[in-house]
Amino acid sequence: MKGIVKKLVKKRGAVYLRLLCTMNTSATKRLKTDGLDFKLSQLVGKENVLHILEDRICYSYDGSKQRCLPDVVVRPQSTQHVSDILRFAYEQEIPVCPRGAGSGLTGGAVPVKGGIILDFTQMNRIVEISPEDLTATVEPGVVTQTLQSEVAKHRLFYPPDPASAPFSTIGGNVAECSGGITGLKYGVTRDYILSLEVVLADGSIIHTGRKTLKSVTGYDLTRLFVGSEGTLGVFTQITVKLLPLPEKIETLLVFFATTQDAIQSASQIIFNNLLPRAMEFIDKSSIDCVKGYKQEIQIPAEVNALLLIDIDGREASVKTEASLVEEIVNKNHAIRVASAKNAQERDTLWEVRRAISPALYNIAPYKINEDICVPRGRILEILGRIAGIHKRYPSLKVASFGHIGDGNIHVNVMYDEGEQQRALAEEMIEEILRNTVEVGGTISGEHGIGNVKSAFLSLEIPPRELEIMKEMKHLLDPKGILNPGKVFC
Ligand SMILES: Cc1cc2nc3c(=O)[nH]c(=O)nc-3n(C[C@H](O)[C@H](O)[C@H](O)COP(=O)(O)OP(=O)(O)OC[C@H]3O[C@@H](n4cnc5c(N)ncnc54)[C@H](O)[C@@H]3O)c2cc1C
Repeated sequence: MKGIVKKLVKKRGAVYLRLLCTMNTSATKRLKTDGLDFKLSQLVGKENVLHILEDRICYSYDGSKQRCLPDVVVRPQSTQHVSDILRFAYEQEIPVCPRGAGSGLTGGAVPVKGGIILDFTQMNRIVEISPEDLTATVEPGVVTQTLQSEVAKHRLFYPPDPASAPFSTIGGNVAECSGGITGLKYGVTRDYILSLEVVLADGSIIHTGRKTLKSVTGYDLTRLFVGSEGTLGVFTQITVKLLPLPEKIETLLVFFATTQDAIQSASQIIFNNLLPRAMEFIDKSSIDCVKGYKQEIQIPAEVNALLLIDIDGREASVKTEASLVEEIVNKNHAIRVASAKNAQERDTLWEVRRAISPALYNIAPYKINEDICVPRGRILEILGRIAGIHKRYPSLKVASFGHIGDGNIHVNVMYDEGEQQRALAEEMIEEILRNTVEVGGTISGEHGIGNVKSAFLSLEIPPRELEIMKEMKHLLDPKGILNPGKVFC
């Protein structure tokens, strides 16, 4: 098993991408001669079809930094457009890659086999917000933060909150089942999707779920599509569940001398029946990167771990819970607790957390960012195992931070220029993923598999289960036109 995975892992880097882009070029030749852009213009209007090279380059990559050119980009304006495009692509067996904002980190929106990019950014209408039903119905191109702020005007709350909320789309969030900082208390995207309008590979339009909080009629097709990474169907309308907007949020930034104290505090907070809105862990390497970033937040030299905690609810209960949290962290040897009482102060504390990801490039020019998730009780163990693995790769740097409340840790392996360094980083990542599965965790808590992680799928998913997944894919997309090259190797 190890041998097989190793071979595949090597494909993750430059060699693999070069191979994919070659396939893309041959697809381009074939499709171009068929006058693809002309046929699509007849279906959706010339103004919604982009085919010149400069435009296609803009759609050739996503947050994974891979590059593969699509043959053509189509910007549908309606469900009927999407259905017409897919019916045509199905007949002609042309690959179709749905795309939101292209912020995905595992290559989901990279058209690795060329073909058509379906850009959903113009299908961005909020169709309905219903305070009475506690629901909203939106088109897939709505930006997550726009939905959050529009529902907040009705004192309603859409809780899933990926760090990419200011630019990622709801369609992309549903396709990746995005998580984010609020997972501990409120769950992830799948917990808020009530119903979907989906266009299948052959262009047929189906509706899954109901606009009700409860429905157990038949199989749960909605859940099947959530997290399907554009490989089973294309979402054209999404109905989400909303909650009443919490009255108040208080933020605490807690400084610790040891990782153990920080993790123990996090467990004890939950053991004491407290459920923070967010609880983020930041390790020593990450702290070093952002030290001095904000004048207002001085981090003393003896600090080796931070917890950033949001508590929300009614004003009185937030106050009580915040003081209980302070008691717990103080019992666990917190060096200092900084608290923010208003939105501006909160923003300052959270900016430290938001700055980590870009600041990591101060350590080394390249990074692989993993989003492993382990059962909460195994967090210290996995961090210990990662430290042990790291000792065998002294030329690499490792920084870990993330949503400690739900066991989701972003492990960043940083490396220098050169094939050898890249190969070492990949080898180390494989060991980390293997260990994650061994402690009962998952190789992806929120970023999905795409093509970047498909070589590792069999580390976690047993053969029969993988077979069932492939059979489902074949049932819904027998010609394999929907986002080919993703999820499965
Ligand atoms: C700085 C940064 C921070 C991030 N933080 C987080 C985080 O905290 N939590 C988290 O979970 N992720 C995070 N991400 C990853 C990324 O933002 C999410 O995966 C997001 O959901 C992608 O949305 P998108 O609109 O950019 O989708 P894209 O990247 O365009 O597409 C993602 C996938 O969705 C599919 N897709 C898009 N639209 C549709 C549709 N209408 N129908 C069917 N399939 C579709 C695509 O084919 C692709 O497989 C982060 C990324 C960045 C760059």
